[in-house]
Amino acid sequence: MISCFIYMQKRLHNIRTEGLENLTAELDQLRQLIVSHAQSAPIDMADQQLALTRLVPGLTMESWNKLSERFGLSDWLALDLDNSTYFNLANLQKIIEDLTHKSERDPLTGLYNKQAFEHKLSMELQRVERSNGQLSLAIIDLDDFKNVNDTYGHACGDEVIRTLADMLDASTRGYDHAARVGGEEFALLLPGAGPLRAKALMDRLCSMFADTLIKCSEAAIQCTFSAGVASLKGRSKATGKELFEVADKALYQAKNAGKNRVRVTRQLVEFEYDRSTMVHSNEKQFLFSGSK
Ligand code: GH3
Ligand code: MG
Ligand code: MG
Repeated sequence: MISCFIYMQKRLHNIRTEGLENLTAELDQLRQLIVSHAQSAPIDMADQQLALTRLVPGLTMESWNKLSERFGLSDWLALDLDNSTYFNLANLQKIIEDLTHKSERDPLTGLYNKQAFEHKLSMELQRVERSNGQLSLAIIDLDDFKNVNDTYGHACGDEVIRTLADMLDASTRGYDHAARVGGEEFALLLPGAGPLRAKALMDRLCSMFADTLIKCSEAAIQCTFSAGVASLKGRSKATGKELFEVADKALYQAKNAGKNRVRVTRQLVEFEYDRSTMVHSNEKQFLFSGSK
C-alpha cells in the first residue's frame, strides 16, 4: 500500500507557475519509482505501508487543488502546514469522501457502478436475513440499443443512457439503489419490496420511458427497455449471484416475449420457518380440543 502526501507551506517563498508544472512531472517520477520498487520487493514486504512525502514550499491549497484537477493527482493527499489541524482534517475528510464517491460511481450517469452495487446487494441480503423482510432486484436492458447507436450516433446513445439513469434515480426511494451494471444494462435494488410492488414500479417506469422523447442534435429518439425481476423473502440463503441469475432469466423471458415489458420470477426462496418453534397441526389439535 503506497500513500502519497504533499506538505505545503506558503510562507517560505512563492512558487511560480512553471514550477508547478515541473512539480507534477517530479511527482509522477517519484510515484513510478516507488511503484517499481514495490513490485520488485520480496513477497513478505507486500503488506508493508509506504508513505511518499514531498514538502512544497510556496504552494497554497487553492493552487494545489487546481493542479490536482488538471493533472489527475487526486491520489496525493495535500496537507497545509500553515493551517490548523482542524483545517487539515476537514480537507482530508473531503478528499476521502470525493475519492469514495468517485470509486463508487459510473462516470457517465452518476449511478452506482457494478462493484458498489454488488456491495450494497450483499449488505441488503444480510439485512433481509436478519429482519425477515423482502427484497427485489430488477435488471433492466435497453431494447435494440445497437440500432439507436447506428441510427443516431454514439453520443446520442449516451444521451439515452443518461436519460434512463436520471429516470431510475428520480423514480426510486432514498433507500433503493440504482446502478449501471453494464454498457446499456442497469440494476435496481428495492429493499422491502415484494414481487407485486417491484412489478408495479417497473411497469410504471417501462411505460414512462417508452413515452419519453429524448432530444439529441436534431433528432427526437424514442427507446424502450425490458426488465427482469427476482424477489426473495425471509431467511433466504440465496447469494447475490443467484439473485442476479434469476433476474437475468426473467429479463431473457421479457426479451423473448417481444421486449418493452417486465417479467417477474416467482419468489426465489420462501421464508424458511424455524420448525423447532412451530406449533405442529397435531399439537394445535391438542391445544384446542385436548386430544391428539
Ligand atoms: P437487445 O434488445 O437484445 O438488448 O439488443 P441490443 O441491440 O440492445 O443489444 P446488443 O447487446 O446487441 O447491443 C448493445 C449495444 O450497446 C452495443 C454497444 O455498442 C452499445 N453500448 C454499450 N455501452 C455503450 C455506451 O456506453 N454508450 C453507447 N452509446 N452505446 C453503448
Ligand atoms: Mg445488454
Ligand atoms: Mg440491449
